Formats: sequence, C-alpha cells, structure tokens
Amino acid sequence: MESALDYHTARALLEWQIELGVSETIGDTPVDRYGLPDKTAKPKKAKAEQVAPVKPKEIDPAEVARAAAKAATSLEQLQAAMGAFEHCELKKGARNLVFADGNPQARVMIIGEAPGRDEDREGRPFVGRAGQLLDRMLDAIDLNRESSVYITNVLPWRPPQNRDPRPDEIGMLKPFLERHVELVKPDVLVLMGNISCQAVLGKRGITRLRGKWDAALTLPVMPMFHPAYLLRQPQAKRHAWADLLELKAKLMGS
Ligand code: URA
Repeated sequence: MESALDYHTARALLEWQIELGVSETIGDTPVDRYGLPDKTAKPKKAKAEQVAPVKPKEIDPAEVARAAAKAATSLEQLQAAMGAFEHCELKKGARNLVFADGNPQARVMIIGEAPGRDEDREGRPFVGRAGQLLDRMLDAIDLNRESSVYITNVLPWRPPQNRDPRPDEIGMLKPFLERHVELVKPDVLVLMGNISCQAVLGKRGITRLRGKWDAALTLPVMPMFHPAYLLRQPQAKRHAWADLLELKAKLMGS
C-alpha cells in the first residue's frame, strides 16, 4: 500500500521527533526485556584484533555527476546517467525524472528552474500553468516545442513543496546540465528566472539581467522573467514581450 506521507514529509516528521528528544521507537507489542538474553556483557576483543576502523572514502557528488555526464555521448545516455545518479535527496521524493521536452535539433534551448507538481506527475518540463503561458509566449514569436524549441530545467527532480533549489543541489547537478547543453548544441540559451541565471551565469538579479544578451557555455544567453513570475506579476509581461522580440531578432539575424 502506498504511504499517505511523501518521503520529505515523513523525514521532516522524524527529524522533528528527534528534536523533541525521542531516542527510541516503541512498537505496538510489549517486549519482556527481562526474558531476553543479556547482551550487556560483551566479550572483550583481543588487543591484536582491534583494527582501526576504515574511514569510508568521501564521495563528491559533483565529481560523480561530472564523470557520468562526460561518459554520456547521446541524450538517451545522459538521461539514463541522470536516472542512475543516487546522490541527490530530491530523487527520493520525486515521482519522475523530468529530463526535457521539445526538439533536440532546435536552435533555442530554454532552461527553467525545476519541475513542479504537474511536471513531476507527467515527467515533462513546463506542463502546468507556467508552462501553458510559456507556450503562448513562444507562439507569439512563432516558436513552439514541437519543432523550434528544446526545454529543460536546472534540476530534473521536484523539490519538496516547490521550495527553491539549494546551492548544493544546483552544484551537484550542474555537470549534467552543462553536458545537456553540449549535446543539444543550440544557437542560443534562454534562462527563465533567477535560479537558471545563478546556475548558468553565476549571477542573480533577474530584473537587472533580463533582456540583455550575456554569454555562457560558449553560447549567447538571454535571461528572461520566469513565466511563473509573470503569472503573479502580469504587469511585467511587457518586459517579457520585449525580450521575446529581442530573441526573435537574434534568430533572424544569425
Ligand atoms: N517551472 C520551471 O522552472 N520548470 C518547470 O518545468 C515547471 C515550472
């Protein structure tokens, strides 16, 4: 039977109980501890047997990701490598790996932040309300994910309660994103919102960055307001429109 609690909620509840001082769990059935064998009197180990514990080698998740990403020579292999990556806690709470959508031959590659609830369910990026707005924005400059745009996210797994991705999560998964861009080889990158700007450009401040061409990963980069932000702040849509025209001009001119 599927648990009513998701992984992250269950973990948060456990951590809360530990904070309150819970140090052991008690089952439904009573245990007669007097009847159990006495385990307190442990035989002393002979001196010669006492070997210093071997410290497990510390794993650097970003290093693991870098090696796995480098070994991938196709998008299918990259997707499989990401699916096999076990060092990100977000994976445990997610239903699906959200890899990408759209045409891998497209000239435009859009990078969003992370999947939300709808994307996690469907396993495709930008399918919820923000995604529908994104489709309308692209349509306004004659682009679409069926033929002319390829879409992915900084993180392939949904963060719990849609919280912002943490810097350590972005850092460990960045090698996959960089390889993703290398394999798609688009002409331009469009970064949606602050998290993608942080991951790709190493900068935040979308209000200042948006609408101006920048460069990263050997490509021209256009930062834009995230469609989810535009849903909350419709008055900012005029800026998004200006940025879309800028993108279209770039595509026409090159
Ligand atoms: N927001 C994003 O940044 N990406 C998605 O896939 C959905 C919403």
